[in-house]
This record gives sequence, structure tokens and C-alpha cells, in this order.
Amino acid sequence: MVLVINFSGGKDSCAMLAYLCEKYPDTEKHVVFADTGWEHKDAESWSRGIVESFGLHLNVARNPNKTFLEMVVRRKMFPGMQTRQCTSDLKRGPIQTWIRQNVTDKLVINCMGIRSEESPNRKKAKHLSRNKSMTNSRRTVWDWNPIKDWNSDQVFNYLKMHNIPLHPVYKYLSRFSCRVCIYMSAHDVHQVKINDPEAFKIIEHLENQIGFTMFQSGSITTI
Ligand code: SF4
Repeated sequence: MVLVINFSGGKDSCAMLAYLCEKYPDTEKHVVFADTGWEHKDAESWSRGIVESFGLHLNVARNPNKTFLEMVVRRKMFPGMQTRQCTSDLKRGPIQTWIRQNVTDKLVINCMGIRSEESPNRKKAKHLSRNKSMTNSRRTVWDWNPIKDWNSDQVFNYLKMHNIPLHPVYKYLSRFSCRVCIYMSAHDVHQVKINDPEAFKIIEHLENQIGFTMFQSGSITTI
């Protein structure tokens, strides 16, 4: 059995990584970071530092055909909250490809740091489910959400207990996501404008270029 740990560098990924290392110290682990091409500039190096502090190596998976911004330009629209093509094409897909290309073990447990508290959809997700598209005659893959029932206080406390630092964006953002994410609250968008004006400008420019706004409520400039 091998654990594949989906790792973004955010608080939930960090707590999940620490938890899995604590509970299953002797189980083989692969940590995979999906780079959407629209990550915070130091997201990969930050993630590498955290992962290496557990004696593990950070693997990076990318969609070879597009980044987040390229996808938006080609489709002339931003991903929607329902379809979330960004997650399927730039995160889940590349990690699944990475598993197919790099993991030979017959039993793969694909671990994700999603939590029920985050959204109604995540609440509906099962703790453990067989991944039908990844399972074949040579390999069985289970998707596992080990910290699904944790609340955010538990996550923060667990990180504190294990001396795992939070990425500096948590000083002004509630989530560690893409530099500007389709799920961002108005508060976080304002914070991006102040703390990462380059990212804000890129989205503003893109909205004008394609004639489509990132947020349903209107242009990023009016949020
Ligand atoms: S962080 Fe947000 S914008 Fe980035 S891939 Fe995930 S849902 Fe899409």
C-alpha cells in the first residue's frame, strides 16, 4: 500500500501531511503538488520546505497543455463554481496522471485535505471511496479524505502543536488558493488588491480582454 498525499501548501494540506506522518510512519508516501501556473510565487518552494521537514520529497504535477490563465484565454471565460474546470484539468487530472506514471504499487490511497466545514459539496463527499476511473486490473485506487471531519480550530491547533508554520498569505487571506480564486470572498479580493496588486491587475486585464468576469457579481474592480 502507498499513500499519495495531495499537497497545496495550505493549512489543511499541512495538517493532513502531519497527521498521516504521525499515524502511518512506516507507510510509503508520495507527496504531489499540482501547479496550476497561477499559484502564489513561492507556493512550490514553500511546500517543498514543509514536505522536506517531514523527510519527504515534493513531486510537482502540471497539465502540459495549459495553465490557469491560458485556459481562461482559450475558453474566453473563467471556470465556473459548478464545473470548476480549473480543479479537474489543472489539479485532479495532473495528479492522477502523475500517479499513473509513477506509482507501481497495487494499492494506492489518494489522500486529500478537504473538510466538510468548507462547503456543502465537500460535506457530501465520502470519507473513503473507490476511484473507479483510476482503478484497473493492475491497481486499485481509493480516494480518502482523512481530515474531513476536522473543523478549522482543530486544524490550527494541530499545526501549532506540531510547530508547522502557516504561509504568510494567511495574514490577510482566509485560504491559500490560486493568487485570485473563483471562490474568493469580497474581503479576500480586496486583500489581493492591496497585497498582490500584480495578480489583481492580471485578472482585471483578462476580464477586459475576453469580456467575461471572474466573479458572477461583476468585474473584479467593482467587488
Ligand atoms: S484554487 Fe480556485 S481558481 Fe485555483 S484551481 Fe482551485 S478552484 Fe480553481
